[in-house]
Amino acid sequence: MRKINYADIVIIGAGSIGLAMAVKLLKTNFSFVVLERGDSVGANMLEWGHIPLFSNWEESTDEDARQLLEAHDISLPSLQNYPKGRELVRNYLVPLAELDVLRDKVSVAATVTNITYEKEIKLTNFKTTYLSNAKSYSVKSAVVIDASGTWGNFNRLASDLASDVLLYGIPDVVQHRYTYVQKEVAVVGSGHSAMNSLQALAELELNGLHWLIRGNAPKFGKSKVGGRSDGLEGNIQRLLKHQKVNLHPNFSINSINSTDGKLELHAESGARLEDIDKVIVNAGAIPDYSMLSNINVDLDTSFLCARSLAPKIDPKLHSCSSTSYAFEDTLLSPLPYFVVGMKSFGTASNFLLSSGYKVLDGLVEYLNSSYS
Ligand SMILES: Cc1cc2nc3c(=O)[nH]c(=O)nc-3n(C[C@H](O)[C@H](O)[C@H](O)COP(=O)(O)OP(=O)(O)OC[C@H]3O[C@@H](n4cnc5c(N)ncnc54)[C@H](O)[C@@H]3O)c2cc1C
Repeated sequence: MRKINYADIVIIGAGSIGLAMAVKLLKTNFSFVVLERGDSVGANMLEWGHIPLFSNWEESTDEDARQLLEAHDISLPSLQNYPKGRELVRNYLVPLAELDVLRDKVSVAATVTNITYEKEIKLTNFKTTYLSNAKSYSVKSAVVIDASGTWGNFNRLASDLASDVLLYGIPDVVQHRYTYVQKEVAVVGSGHSAMNSLQALAELELNGLHWLIRGNAPKFGKSKVGGRSDGLEGNIQRLLKHQKVNLHPNFSINSINSTDGKLELHAESGARLEDIDKVIVNAGAIPDYSMLSNINVDLDTSFLCARSLAPKIDPKLHSCSSTSYAFEDTLLSPLPYFVVGMKSFGTASNFLLSSGYKVLDGLVEYLNSSYS
């Protein structure tokens, strides 16, 4: 992308939501740019590209984006099939970003570091600063749409253990099987990410597989998406029943000691787990607002999302498919800085792409009525 100084709208992040927003803006008169931190669009999703989605192709993709691809004779796999993360990136996000209509507007390897807002009468109030090839650039805009997700900004354990011992995210353990075979591995976290890690690890010849959760018991049946989570949860229940996974409930990790290459995990309850070689931490991710210099966002303290959204997405009350919200619920600030996609849910993990795309339609409508 050629470097430009001004666009009506700056979109941060070229994941599924950022690119869908870009597609929708093609139907408006707004000028826009998309700034993506990774070397490829969908960079976050590529990090868990080996994981199959619970949503099928139709649910995982935006209708306007599908139509745009179709108009360029690019077809997707059967919409009723279930993509892996990397398939969604390769067959959907990359072809979208390479279309003539979008190519010049999407910039990869462009990491947004700072956003400032100046009160002026005119509309060009935001200055978004980003790093590209170690150089700093900035672009002014009337509106910023933050679709930068939460992946990568993980809840971390208080430990300075090396990253080959304490792993975050959902590592592809099958591809890197020799890192894990004949090892004692502990997985921390109770959600589907942890279950995905456990399911893959259970296929390998380990010395032991441990599941550390904070609660009394795993929470199955909380989040049903297209029936697919039933399969994963059913597998984990079977692994527990056949003692292929050793469950450690009420194990809130307090500290980890490392002696002679072996780890000792201590829980707040006083419980202890010894002789562990690797710990995979799937304890969720949090939205990062550090790029905002002088923009105050009003956050719900439990989920770090918009206050009016919190009761509508509280995972204790709503599964992925029972959340119901509109664009207005996601507003964090009176300024035209809009947070969309996974990041709009804060620390709640029950965001679904299909509902996120609908929210973008509401946002485009709002932008058209307020800024055209
Ligand atoms: C393992 C897993 C499975 C999931 N399965 C499903 C499913 O089946 N169905 C479903 O609907 N949802 C699912 N989700 C939830 C959610 O839909 C996905 O996380 C989805 O990728 C969120 O899209 P997004 O565009 O909001 O964020 P992301 O995909 O995280 O995209 C954000 C983009 O912003 C970029 N970025 C970040 N910071 C910056 C910065 N400072 N400057 C510039 N760019 C930046 C990132 O590189 C990234 O490309 C799943 C999530 C996970 C983790």
